[in-house]
Amino acid sequence: MYAPSAGYSSALDIPTLLFFATTIVALLGLFLIISWLQDRSMRALAWWGAAYLIGASSMALWSSPAPLLPVPAEVFSALIFVACGMIWNGVRLFHGRRVLPLATFAGAILWVILCQAPVFATGESLRIVLAAMIASAYAFFTAFELWRERRKSLHSRSAAVIVPLLHAAIFLIPIALRALSPEVRGAVFASGWFELFALETMLYGVGTGVIVLLLVKDYHVHVHKNAASTDHLTGLFNRRAFLDGAQSLCAHQAGQRQPVTVLMFDLDHFKSINDRFGHAAGDDVLRLFAANARANMRASDLIGRLGGEEFAAIVPGTCDTAVKIAERIRAGFEMAAVEIPIGRIGTTVSIGAACSLDPVMDVGMLLARADAALYRAKEAGRNRIYTAEETPEPTTAERLIAAARAGNAALEHERECAIEAQPDRDHRSAA
Ligand code: GH3
Ligand code: MG
Ligand code: MG
Repeated sequence: MYAPSAGYSSALDIPTLLFFATTIVALLGLFLIISWLQDRSMRALAWWGAAYLIGASSMALWSSPAPLLPVPAEVFSALIFVACGMIWNGVRLFHGRRVLPLATFAGAILWVILCQAPVFATGESLRIVLAAMIASAYAFFTAFELWRERRKSLHSRSAAVIVPLLHAAIFLIPIALRALSPEVRGAVFASGWFELFALETMLYGVGTGVIVLLLVKDYHVHVHKNAASTDHLTGLFNRRAFLDGAQSLCAHQAGQRQPVTVLMFDLDHFKSINDRFGHAAGDDVLRLFAANARANMRASDLIGRLGGEEFAAIVPGTCDTAVKIAERIRAGFEMAAVEIPIGRIGTTVSIGAACSLDPVMDVGMLLARADAALYRAKEAGRNRIYTAEETPEPTTAERLIAAARAGNAALEHERECAIEAQPDRDHRSAA
């Protein structure tokens, strides 16, 4: 792409630099391909690995003292642009976006076509400008792709955005150089600019390789953290993750002297759904409730499954705000239903709400008050919302019962699952 011209004084040895750059890029490519072979679900690794190997082959062919293949020099640059496009598309794929095949090859196609035009065929500096523009465009696209995913709490994100951005900016230098007079330009080139450029390309190759590894590491941390904090049936937070999150939110709101409200949910007559339609249908109703609740809450609200058919949410704001949210969830769930071959299964939900009028640091008291309100909503006929203000303070006994109930539901469910599994096992051992 940027062939070193003879006659430049050289502080660094270009062939050595190129040799190291090619070797490092090739090793990174191999490493990424091997990583992909070990975890084929991450196709981005294959794209990145292939991009590095293509880039390394192109650099090796281009920098070899004697031509290894009878192809015009612009083909090697075209391969580098394909590699740049593949790195960009690998980042897209990594973030769940689709690959853009035409855009991947557009830079290379444009390069090959324009190199045939007489003005580019003869003008070396124009070719350099064109190559710089294509390379920096791909680097900008890559940086943009990383930047728009920055909210996904991945620590390596800022470094990940800066490296391609810096590279894109450095690749634009030749364009700026064109604005200089030929003498100044000659002096810049003679002062070892090309060596710096080659060094930068090598750093970029290594830098993006490190970014790729950081992204993959972050992804695995994210997957494991999610698995540990997620209720696998509904996809909501599990009990422990919810209580941790609720405690932090409560303390944060107390620090800001802002109110916070806890909502407790319990599906009505849920046991009879299991009894009449089976456990799988019951699971579908739980998923339906979770989806409906999530859809009716704001991003700042937290919701989790405490166990069985009991859920809890914490909402920054007053009781009025929370009751509006709760009412949306109650009404939405009443209308919703799971479709089965013999009809629709639906039920309702009872909700208890408790607001912190004075800042509270501990969420436990709010949960107990919301649970007491929920208990009274059940007693009053179900499918309704009661707030703790409408109910007397829970007694110590009520608090203990409230704390035990969520745990009991989970235990009871486990016991039922075990009982259901039992006949099967007996049947198998009898067979
Ligand atoms: P109420 O209106 O008074 O709340 O009655 P209920 O039937 O909803 O409450 P109860 O506590 O009697 O029953 C809860 C049932 O939830 C018992 C248990 O079998 C069922 N359950 C708990 N966890 C699960 C689960 O993960 N899947 C399914 N399908 N059922 C579950
Ligand atoms: Mg219950
Ligand atoms: Mg129930």
